[in-house]
Amino acid sequence: MYENRARLAALWESELELFRRMRPTSRAEFDRAVEHMPDGVPMLWMSKWPGPWPVYVSRASGAHFECLDRIDHVDFCLGDTGAMCGHAPEPSVRAIADQLAVGSTFMLPTHDAALAAEALASRFAVPVWQFSLSATDANRSLIRFARQVTKRSKIVVHDYSYHGTVDEAYATLDDAGNVISRRGNIGAPVPLAQTTAVVPFNDLPALQAALATGDIAAVLIEPALTNIGIVLPDAEYHRGVRDLCTRYGAILIIDETHTFSAGPGGMIAELGLEPDAVVLGKSIGGGIPAGAYGMTRAFSQAVRDSLELEDIDVGGVGGTLAGNAVSLAGVRATLTEVLTAQAFAGMIERCTMWTAGVQAAIDEFDVPWQVTQLGARAEYSFRAEAPRDGREAAAADDFELQQYLHLHALNRGILMTPFHNMALMCPVTTDEDVERHTVAFREAVVSLYG
Ligand code: PMP
Repeated sequence: MYENRARLAALWESELELFRRMRPTSRAEFDRAVEHMPDGVPMLWMSKWPGPWPVYVSRASGAHFECLDRIDHVDFCLGDTGAMCGHAPEPSVRAIADQLAVGSTFMLPTHDAALAAEALASRFAVPVWQFSLSATDANRSLIRFARQVTKRSKIVVHDYSYHGTVDEAYATLDDAGNVISRRGNIGAPVPLAQTTAVVPFNDLPALQAALATGDIAAVLIEPALTNIGIVLPDAEYHRGVRDLCTRYGAILIIDETHTFSAGPGGMIAELGLEPDAVVLGKSIGGGIPAGAYGMTRAFSQAVRDSLELEDIDVGGVGGTLAGNAVSLAGVRATLTEVLTAQAFAGMIERCTMWTAGVQAAIDEFDVPWQVTQLGARAEYSFRAEAPRDGREAAAADDFELQQYLHLHALNRGILMTPFHNMALMCPVTTDEDVERHTVAFREAVVSLYG
């Protein structure tokens, strides 16, 4: 906990003043936009950035974007992973534009579909793939498939996980260990304990207890938590998860939407994981909507065997524009030409530098914070030790401190991921981009602790 709240309040005020002076054009845009959109934004969470009004973007390329006030920013948020391939990567833009010019949506497959599925199968350990427009929808579809084939009703998620706007996944544990709706959950259709069991990350006995009820269709997990800071798995954790899912007949779904940052085949390839199903989204389309879900042959065959041809279009798994030709052109080009093994090597190298920069300031001023790296992604949190589960990570939250650090960065032309202290590198993030953060972060630490 940062003790000197008066100092923090004064720092916040002076950064707000700077923000106001720097961004009059965004202010004018906000005044107009707010007439017809709540908080002046097309999605309400876009107002959760620090500052009195949003920063409106004019253009972006690679690891940088410019706002309406013509300020250059190094983008470490990268659309919260949607732009992990950098903004407007040439091969993806070309493939997307070429496909748009010859038709975008047919309800029929194109050649790119097969190429995209092959690229995914070669990286993520499962051979059979389907496509959606988002990771959320990929998760929803797999949960339905898992219920269909296991004839069980519930899923397991990790405490403090996030898997998109999936009703069943919006569950958490209260202080007594009961499953409850997570804070901020809007309009839950049923009490969460009816659909979901929640277990702490890295807690195999808790997972076993949940599976032993016999109600669990699927275990839906990120291989490392990335939505409450980064929480890495213990050495034997994933072996244990796999064995328990096999023993109790639950479908193991690994959501690699964020952990894809670990390497070209995500954490699945890094750790040799053996999921029954895999979810990807966000980055794979090169910046346009695309999600994908992969399955083992056995799981996919069980799903297929359970469906009559006549009923295939009414089963709650769908989306008219899912698998459209433009998405698939984007996925094919992004996977084969942009997010390559070579690109990941550079992204991870830059991220190691970024992490070292943060660690250096923490060490220099003896600040009780820690930083954790996961491939091309890293995050610091306001606690001295790396957290072992989501609850520990959440206990270190300090919204005001985080808002200050984000605004301080923004005023120095650096965009961090909102609601986190997270940074992501893209294939064209440079040493200079990282250095900009290292310098600004040290300056922020000096303002708080110097
Ligand atoms: N899975 C994970 C692990 C995520 O972090 C997110 C979004 N942050 C999603 C799924 C959902 O992605 P989308 O909102 O693009 O559907």
